[in-house]
Amino acid sequence: MSDFGLRLENHYAQLPDDFYTSMPAEKVGAAPRLIHANPKAAALLDLDPHVFNDPRFVEVVSGHRPLESFSPLAMVYSGHQFGVWAGQLGDGRALLIGQARNAAGELWDIQLKGAGKTPYSRFADGRAVMRSTIREYLCSEAMAALGIPTSRALAIVATGETVMREAPEPGAVLTRLAQSHIRFGHFEHFFHRGQKDQVRVLADHVIAEYFPDMIGEHAAWYGEVVRRTAVMVAQWQAVGFAHGVMNTDNMSILGLTIDYGPYGFLDAYDPQFICNHTDTQGRYSFINQPVIAHWNLRALAMALSDLIPTETLIEKLATFEAHFGGTYHTLMREKLGLTREVEGDNKLIGGLLALMARTRADYTLSFRNLTGEDAAWLALFGEANAEAQGWLSRYRVRTQSENLSGLNRINPKYVLRNWVAETAIRDVEDKNDVATLGRIFKLMQSPFATHDGDDAFAAPPPPNMCDLEVSCSS
Ligand code: AMP
Ligand code: MG
Repeated sequence: MSDFGLRLENHYAQLPDDFYTSMPAEKVGAAPRLIHANPKAAALLDLDPHVFNDPRFVEVVSGHRPLESFSPLAMVYSGHQFGVWAGQLGDGRALLIGQARNAAGELWDIQLKGAGKTPYSRFADGRAVMRSTIREYLCSEAMAALGIPTSRALAIVATGETVMREAPEPGAVLTRLAQSHIRFGHFEHFFHRGQKDQVRVLADHVIAEYFPDMIGEHAAWYGEVVRRTAVMVAQWQAVGFAHGVMNTDNMSILGLTIDYGPYGFLDAYDPQFICNHTDTQGRYSFINQPVIAHWNLRALAMALSDLIPTETLIEKLATFEAHFGGTYHTLMREKLGLTREVEGDNKLIGGLLALMARTRADYTLSFRNLTGEDAAWLALFGEANAEAQGWLSRYRVRTQSENLSGLNRINPKYVLRNWVAETAIRDVEDKNDVATLGRIFKLMQSPFATHDGDDAFAAPPPPNMCDLEVSCSS
């Protein structure tokens, strides 16, 4: 069947030429090998997972065979990196190889990451390493299962090539999906070049496909981007996720979590947690994420300033705080099972977070273990047993008339801790063994369930894996 039955539309290519470069993939590596593929992501494309066994599938997801009815392209965008205008960036190692319309009417980008150089590669090699590919593959699926808007991952291919980073590493290609990979940086690109018309063309393109209720309503649309971004970051904060590189070129116009690099889930709760070793100033520390999201939305507002009156932009941007605060507050209440608003609730929530921060209690387990034996929860607070006991007693009194039976569907048992991802990576890289990857992948796709025999992967890092460093190098 041609193109595996995908219903492809050359949608992005309807934009003017200066939005992208049409080009085939480089055909990286002589004999690409499929490492893992994701039936849930295939379902988003109405793709039968049996195609994973078709030799043409690995050819397509490695960039060795183009889909017949789509012309691959690399997008151009710009952005602010670490608060500084970086000028032109673009898909330096990503290539859009398809846009598929599913039966529900949704359009999904199919993008390869690591399939070779493009005109936007600048000084870099267009490659991706296995380590970062596995990290993005697992984390995007973990986030989706946690109910957080995100790009998805369809497949990992080993290219067989060796790629140079700090050390030589095995190369890989990730196939990722998102309804769109358009970033704040796309808009900044044309604004900073003085191409006002192109900003409008792009906004209208995005609205027509992804915000069809808002055609012609640029201000309302910007307000919706503010809302989605605020909600997404509130979800990050509630689950304990740090993105690591919130540059404007990594911010999705649809409010999706995209471009997984040196991200980290909190182990021990530290509000100042910096997951990205390269981020020496802590600009993208855990606690800073809402402020940075707001900063990025302001940069987007600037880029839209020829389209929307300044006062309106300011007004819409000002809704960020209410959307963020409201969502975060609701989520934290849900995590503790507090349905009725009672005086003293905020103090109860704040008291727990303060105790967790001071004792460096495990973030995920501090919520998850509330449903188990008291002793298992108290053990998370080490020396501060008396204080923890005090808080727990107040909590038990407060929740006497609450129904806590649903808490295990709100507080995950499994998040993608760095050490867990690293375990999968080492088995693939050192032993050519994909079993652990598959096992962890399953845990991430149902993070609220208890999985017999896999309790170890719900635990904080073992002593020998406490100091893993992740950086921008990928
Ligand atoms: P990131 O911070 O990973 O989102 O990447 C920032 C910019 O650098 C984007 O334009 C990427 O396409 C580009 N880039 C990152 N790594 C590579 C690479 N190995 N080869 C080519 N371009 C890259
Ligand atoms: Mg990026």
